[in-house]
Amino acid sequence: MTLFDLTGRVAIVTGGNGGIGLGMALGMVACGATIVVAGRDEEKARLALASLRELGAQCAFMAADVTKKAACVKLVSDTVAEFGRLDILVNNAGTAIRKMPQDYTEEEWHHVLDTNLTSAFLCSQAAYAPMKQAGGGKMINIGSMMSLFGAPYATPYASSKGGIVQMTRAMATAWAKDNIQVNAVLPGWIDTDLTRRARREVEGLHERVENRTPAARWGVPGDMAGIAAFLASPASDFVTGTAIPVDGGYSIGM
Ligand code: NDP
Repeated sequence: MTLFDLTGRVAIVTGGNGGIGLGMALGMVACGATIVVAGRDEEKARLALASLRELGAQCAFMAADVTKKAACVKLVSDTVAEFGRLDILVNNAGTAIRKMPQDYTEEEWHHVLDTNLTSAFLCSQAAYAPMKQAGGGKMINIGSMMSLFGAPYATPYASSKGGIVQMTRAMATAWAKDNIQVNAVLPGWIDTDLTRRARREVEGLHERVENRTPAARWGVPGDMAGIAAFLASPASDFVTGTAIPVDGGYSIGM
């Protein structure tokens, strides 16, 4: 268990109040981590904290709009003030607007890029100093199958998720000497609020995903628990700059 032991480690999960973020938080809690859930929706956060506490976790909600630099800086400094350290950052907050490329407004483009990519940059930047001071840390960025593939309705989303992979590689090379590992996770199609909306908006999506996925099912947030535990723990100390699909084989099938 030492390989995966997160006792005494403190993690921030942006968007940890539901979906994939909560699934990853639950995985880290199972290994003993303390969790700071960052997001905007307090009611969702209340339910998320209850499920984390059921596993015995020490945890807290911090309200933050992670598209804003000041909010990211405050999130990190409040975490260190309350729990004494920051070891793990999961950049999970995300959104999507589905349209044809010619139909996006400039504001919609910026909204998706700011939520999915700039937020991860700002939180990572804020987290660097306390992690370096602690002697190392783990940053986990959430990409997507859209980091690898395109779709007609996903121009800003795919751009942001492609950017996540390259940002991960760049930061991994910059901070490896500080013993900070930076990795990306590329989830396949996971049943969450985000994809429930996608299934309403994109005709035939539900069946297409089932048919193309070798595991023959949609993922659930709990499928993300193991990769979070691995990338947050000493087991991954020599793993950095990667982008790991967790997709039931979606990305390796024809
Ligand atoms: P959800 O909609 O359940 O989660 C998105 C989370 O992001 C919410 O908890 C939301 O919190 C948070 N969030 C959004 N904007 C902000 C903001 N400005 N500041 C703080 N928090 C914010 O969807 P998922 O769980 O599916 O998505 C999580 C991540 O996984 C996203 O990055 C998404 O792109 C990615 N992903 C999802 C896939 C899937 O199939 N579901 C596949 C591949 C990637 P709040 O409600 O409080 O605003």
